[in-house]
Amino acid sequence: MQVDYIIVGFGLAGMAMAKVLEDYGHSFIVLEDSSQVSSRVAAGVFNPVILKRFTPVWNADEQLQNLFPFYQDLEKRLGNNYLTYFDTYKVFKNVEDQNNWFMACDNPLLEKYLNPKISKEPKKGVISYEGFGQVKGTGRVLIKKVLDDYIVYLKKKGLFLNISMNHEELKLDGAGVNYRDIDAKKIVFAEGFGLKKNPFFSYLPLTGTKGEMLYIEAPGLKLTSQLKSTLFLLPMKNNKYWVGATFNWTDKTVKATEKGRKELLEKLDTMIDVPYKVISQFGGIRPTVKDRRPLVGVHPEYKNAIVFNGMGTRGVMIAPTIANQLYQHLENKQPLPKEIDIQRFN
Ligand SMILES: Cc1cc2nc3c(=O)[nH]c(=O)nc-3n(C[C@H](O)[C@H](O)[C@H](O)COP(=O)(O)OP(=O)(O)OC[C@H]3O[C@@H](n4cnc5c(N)ncnc54)[C@H](O)[C@@H]3O)c2cc1C
Repeated sequence: MQVDYIIVGFGLAGMAMAKVLEDYGHSFIVLEDSSQVSSRVAAGVFNPVILKRFTPVWNADEQLQNLFPFYQDLEKRLGNNYLTYFDTYKVFKNVEDQNNWFMACDNPLLEKYLNPKISKEPKKGVISYEGFGQVKGTGRVLIKKVLDDYIVYLKKKGLFLNISMNHEELKLDGAGVNYRDIDAKKIVFAEGFGLKKNPFFSYLPLTGTKGEMLYIEAPGLKLTSQLKSTLFLLPMKNNKYWVGATFNWTDKTVKATEKGRKELLEKLDTMIDVPYKVISQFGGIRPTVKDRRPLVGVHPEYKNAIVFNGMGTRGVMIAPTIANQLYQHLENKQPLPKEIDIQRFN
């Protein structure tokens, strides 16, 4: 088989690369071995505001501008809905939180997203502290659904293989790439935390941060918006909620743990005061980077080997923009923004 690109990994990064290549009429094949699950367990939320620090997300406006057409295109292509919209309410624990909110509302980068009026209206089942702040323009991408639909679509075209990339079998030379019976011009590694096992790019400072979440049923809660305190609480259908997430920098397994569950339940009990039942628990490794910026670009020695990684805690927002920048770099020689280019680690 002869293609323009091999894509290794089909999480948010690999999917974004596949979409952009398809948009521009390039041939490609995807290899995916289900060894990482970050995109599949992610809540899929997009939110332009970092509510822990009351600061804007890096390049939030540009990323949101690209996010909507990207997922809307996929909705058309795959014939399903993947975007949902809701507000997010930040729980103010104390007066200091309120003051920080008012300061954030004056930030020109944030004012369009934040409602300066503090809401004191109680929310059924939610423990009241010092009111809530409304963040507008947030929502969620149904990641698992879009990945699954895209996989079915690609399989029908013979462009998706459920196999592992064994890097030792990969042959790279100036002319192209060979992997078993596949010849390609270039290979894009979008392996998430799996990058650690990739001998070409394992030198990059991908740290990886494990996250765990719970799926609960709480009939006493009547939330229609996302609630954000020490955890987020995200309403689904039929009284079900996602609760997350933990941040663990030492455990690099994708397994759900008793420690993670305990931490989530302890924090949840400071947020709600109605009975609930835990239905399931998930874990995954976020591909986080020391300097909190994506890891994108061409290998310093093997010019046909490319990395698309470091989506960190915000793959939903970041991946569409980065995929396009990477494509323009590879095909049209546009320079990559320095802050995402892996050359910063050469
Ligand atoms: C609990 C949790 C909650 C999150 N919530 C959100 C959220 O609400 N919003 C948000 O934007 N982000 C969220 N994130 C972060 C988000 O999941 C990541 O930014 C994003 O999924 C990373 O995508 P990726 O494609 O780079 O990596 P991954 O999703 O890890 O995908 C990499 C893929 O490569 C495959 N792979 C790896 N090695 C090989 C190999 N050798 N051969 C073949 N295939 C291989 C893996 O199986 C995997 O499918 C969350 C993460 C976690 C863990």
